[in-house]
Amino acid sequence: MRAKLQLVMCSDEGQEETVTGVITLNKNSQRIEHLGLTLAEAKQLLSTLQRHLLQQQVDTFLDPCSTCPDCGALLKVKAHASRSFRTLFGTCKLDSPRLEHCDCKRRKTLSFRPLSALLTESVAPELLYEVLHSQGLQMNQEITFLADGNDTLRELQLEMSPKATHIVDWFHLTMKLTVLEQYGKGLVQCEAALGEKIREKIARLQWSLWHGQVDKALSKIDDLASSIASFNETYARFNRLVKALSAWRTYIVHNQHLVPNYGQRYHHGEAIATGFVESTVNQVVSKRFCKKQQMQWSKPGAHLLLQTRVKTLDGELGAIFKRWYPDMDLEVEEMPAAA
Ligand SMILES: [Zn+2]
Repeated sequence: MRAKLQLVMCSDEGQEETVTGVITLNKNSQRIEHLGLTLAEAKQLLSTLQRHLLQQQVDTFLDPCSTCPDCGALLKVKAHASRSFRTLFGTCKLDSPRLEHCDCKRRKTLSFRPLSALLTESVAPELLYEVLHSQGLQMNQEITFLADGNDTLRELQLEMSPKATHIVDWFHLTMKLTVLEQYGKGLVQCEAALGEKIREKIARLQWSLWHGQVDKALSKIDDLASSIASFNETYARFNRLVKALSAWRTYIVHNQHLVPNYGQRYHHGEAIATGFVESTVNQVVSKRFCKKQQMQWSKPGAHLLLQTRVKTLDGELGAIFKRWYPDMDLEVEEMPAAA
């Protein structure tokens, strides 16, 4: 037998306007395993339905934006672009045209993207909620905090959970080392043999840090600082390199108690860097709080994330989301307070 599912969009008055085929199911009915929807069919059904529904909603939103609000003239499309929107039922790509403002009046900008007013985030609030919620559930057991060594974030974490393990995210250390490696490449171009030696030293520095040997790492940094002295005249970015090296030293000294033996942790299957969940949250929090660089926590951003975590433990996440997204339909499952 064949079952066709169609999405029928109606006007507010109830008049049927468009009919879109969502999925066609070819089903047998001879055996028990034929009965009902399969998981794959259910997934396909939901993601297809989601895509069509989103497209309709976006079209409805964009429709009145295509004409000038002052004189009614049709606005010209300046460029086509697209936006990704991550939802609980898949990621959808949506057209996001850039329109030219009408010149019947003076405007602050020449063009605008009407969809930006609707898609203020690239993650659906409910997906974010689910991610935070699952994160919160884990928080009761998981006690490793990974941070980039930012004081504010660390202080707040310590305040929140003084007995937890606090370590610097290996990913942040690596990012910082990458900067040094870039300088290393520059030195090789300047003077091949000596430059290569310095690159090796940088690699060994990384090795020391991977094994949590902070003292060794610090002496390697000092060694590096004297090794590069001869590039003073020849390397154009010498001063910047000296500065970067000294900043890097300060960072290590400052965070030395948060640098574990990453190699051992990794070997034991313990966390050394934050994964997908945190980066999603990070991305969204950053959007909300104007964080300029991916690697840098803004104070309000860090504060908010921690606040969210604390509130999660208190089962108040739902209330926060209700405040952020008043129209969000949430079935808030109260969580037990942290012990
Ligand atoms: Zn106009």
